[in-house]
Amino acid sequence: MPQKYLSIQDAMQQGSGTVSIRGWVHRERGSNKLKFVVLRDSSNTIQCVFERSNFEKEWDDIDHLQVETSITMTGEIKKDARAPSGYEVQVKKFEIIGKSENYPISKDLSPEFLLDNRHLWLRSTRMQAILKIRSTIFAAIHEYFRSVGFYEYHSPIFQAVQAEGGSTLFHVDYFGKKDVFLAQTWQLYAEPAIFSLEKIYTISPSFRAERSKTSRHLTEYWHAEMEMAWSTFKEIQDQGESLIKHVMKKVLENHEKDLKVLERDPAKLLPTVKKPFVRMTYTDALKVLKDKCKIRVQWGKDLRTIEEEELTKLYDVPVIVTHYPKKVKAFYMVEDPKNPEVVEGCDFLAPESHGEIIGGSQREHDLEKLKARLVEQGEDPKNYEFYLDTRRYGSVPHGGFGLGVERIIKWICGLDNIKDAIPFPRTMERYKP
Ligand code: ATP
Ligand code: MG
Repeated sequence: MPQKYLSIQDAMQQGSGTVSIRGWVHRERGSNKLKFVVLRDSSNTIQCVFERSNFEKEWDDIDHLQVETSITMTGEIKKDARAPSGYEVQVKKFEIIGKSENYPISKDLSPEFLLDNRHLWLRSTRMQAILKIRSTIFAAIHEYFRSVGFYEYHSPIFQAVQAEGGSTLFHVDYFGKKDVFLAQTWQLYAEPAIFSLEKIYTISPSFRAERSKTSRHLTEYWHAEMEMAWSTFKEIQDQGESLIKHVMKKVLENHEKDLKVLERDPAKLLPTVKKPFVRMTYTDALKVLKDKCKIRVQWGKDLRTIEEEELTKLYDVPVIVTHYPKKVKAFYMVEDPKNPEVVEGCDFLAPESHGEIIGGSQREHDLEKLKARLVEQGEDPKNYEFYLDTRRYGSVPHGGFGLGVERIIKWICGLDNIKDAIPFPRTMERYKP
């Protein structure tokens, strides 16, 4: 019969008796009589003890066990208050599966070195905690949208129209054709589908040629987007708020230990689940900035990072800023029926200066107005014919939003830089390994 291995977590659950476990050497120390190995698997770590008197023949191998060696073992597990995770295994039998020599990662290495060795750094306790939380966040997004009746839908990555401005487009050499880009958003290919499915969502990579070096921009990021027919602007905001609350709840329920590894205080995150988000118009946000932060922003200018940061420092929940000036937002956002100078667009700003996590809007559904906005923004409506058909045949009020998954990971995990929110970050300067 093949050996039945337990995860380290399950072995500790069992707590006594014989267990077989497998994993990688996380730490090792020893004398010429005893060897202590902290073994790591995806579930936990545990201290394992090798006694020389049991392994006289194999002692040389044991003595030379190095960090990241993969190993299987069988032994007696017992509670031990002195062991780092409270349990210890007395090893009775073991097999080295893959040797490891001079593992290049030790303590106190520079962030650049760790990024160059990202393929190995993924094994660190820190990255493991982030990647587990990331997995829960993806699952929670799927769960949320399916629970409120959205269909999962897929748009192309190769696209021939742009929605978020030419300056961040990645051009692709498509068999010699040059008017092809990588998706910045699914939106223009999602809107046609709401006439079929009404409520749709996706989680897919988006690509933006971001030239600025900030702590919150990647060139390739995972974008959770939704689009719904018959929506009101308020419903779009409500959906965004409920989604974030659900994601946060799932992380808090399942990741106490991982948040501890990241030294992230859950008390800072709890208000997002418990309290309503703050909602204010752009115009009111300028007033708050002036009165409470002594920052003056001229009406009509987009909010800059520094202003968003100061604003969100005032609250312990996300702030939804609505009704931005038309000029600073994308062509597809609908004018406010009460004031055509502003649009029904919203940005969700995360607390503690983590910046924008969601951008959303009610869409312009009038054909002529949409064409005029395209022309104003220097686009040729001819290139958008397929998209404009959405306004020709049974147009309906609709809207949607995009959530940057790594942005929400950065916030929830309390990361200084978005690069740690994704396994292999891509930025202007980094595309390897
Ligand atoms: P920002 O002002 O921060 O550049 P944006 O206005 O360009 O954001 P949108 O076009 O509204 O962002 O995109 C929707 C969401 O995608 C944003 O709210 C953000 O969470 C995320 N996002 C946008 N650009 C990036 C990026 N370069 N890297 C990671 N996430 C991003
Ligand atoms: Mg941007």
